[in-house]
Amino acid sequence: LNLLIKNITIISPKDNLNGLFDVLIKDGLIEKIGYIDDIRDIEILDGKGLTLIPGFFDMHVHFREPGQTEKEDIQSGTLAAANGGFTGVLCMPNTIPPIDNTKVIEFINKKSENNLVDVYLSGTASVDRKGMKTSDLNNLFESGVLAITDDGSPVNAESILNDVFAFSEKSMLPFLQHAENYTISGNGSIHKGEIAEKLSLEGIPSESETATVKNDLEILKNYPDAKYHIQHISCGETISLVEEAKSKNFKVSCEVCPHHFILTDEIILKEGTNAKMNPPLRTNKDVELIIKGLKDDIIDVICTDHAPHTKSEKDKNLETAPFGITGLETCISLTYTYLVDKEYLSFEKMIEKLSDNPRKILNLQRVKITEGEKANFTILNLDSEYKIDVNKFKSKSRNTPFNNFKVKCKPYAVINNSQIYYSDL
Ligand SMILES: [Zn+2]
Repeated sequence: LNLLIKNITIISPKDNLNGLFDVLIKDGLIEKIGYIDDIRDIEILDGKGLTLIPGFFDMHVHFREPGQTEKEDIQSGTLAAANGGFTGVLCMPNTIPPIDNTKVIEFINKKSENNLVDVYLSGTASVDRKGMKTSDLNNLFESGVLAITDDGSPVNAESILNDVFAFSEKSMLPFLQHAENYTISGNGSIHKGEIAEKLSLEGIPSESETATVKNDLEILKNYPDAKYHIQHISCGETISLVEEAKSKNFKVSCEVCPHHFILTDEIILKEGTNAKMNPPLRTNKDVELIIKGLKDDIIDVICTDHAPHTKSEKDKNLETAPFGITGLETCISLTYTYLVDKEYLSFEKMIEKLSDNPRKILNLQRVKITEGEKANFTILNLDSEYKIDVNKFKSKSRNTPFNNFKVKCKPYAVINNSQIYYSDL
């Protein structure tokens, strides 16, 4: 890729960049940042009104390949990521078969070769994600996974938790916990509260999440160097648990998805199964505390939990439809509109939580915007207001409660691995 970007606003706090610049990209590398005279025979991108930042990274996606490619595959998933403004993702291992052996890893790596989007993998904590026997963690590590998790399911067995924490201490790989306790969540389909009562549905109590985190933190005391990361926080109380553990210097981090800082269970009355996800949407109080947790920097990462499902599956009723919503093509605009524009979070903090922190947790280098580095950029049009339109999604699936939401900050393009992709949203 050879490209001259003229007059673009670059914001990269860690590189001390905040202002208008030209950027020259040669063979995918940043050749020069500053004022650059017009060069002959090079493609020019007019950056007026656009903002360029270090490429965003989503550390929680489900690409469904192998096994459920009618919902998504590596091709459509990475296209959705690029369209939504992401240059890197971490795939969850609940494929069919799951990512618990080298063969599956090699299969997915082959599929994502030469992609603009960097596709990284997590490996299962337990064999076949059944929660009975610990996976061959050494083998997964050697095959290149960046994290251990049974996401889709929790790890509740104490012996497996001990194994993954011990392994994390020596490998530095984080353990990502989908914090749920099956004996508490039972057959619940939405948050246990007024709405569940109104709809006569079994509810998922907040304790399912908080009790799991409390239990994990108790075990973590024996592994002070283990990296423990709590996925998709849904309860306000979880944040105080994280805050306390952090104050005691445990290597704890956590993430939140836009739906958990924007929506409550009330939207289920309007959006039905498109608002059914696990963990579920909860109360106003939880949303308030999650926003406070982001402001106070207790929550490290914003991610999507991109979970595509077909229309026919989501057309089932609330009890039987699968959990999950898509997120890659709505996340950035929703985060900007509901956090930055409302002045809960600075744009610089948004960059930290969507670019620097996820990579740091996964032991990846942060994206540097300096001469000589690979060009890995997200380009946004911050002032562009638009309506989310599911028909524009590149994902194979459309299951989101955010269709028609009016948002700001439209993804414009991404650049990575010597390729450019222009968003169409
Ligand atoms: Zn999960």
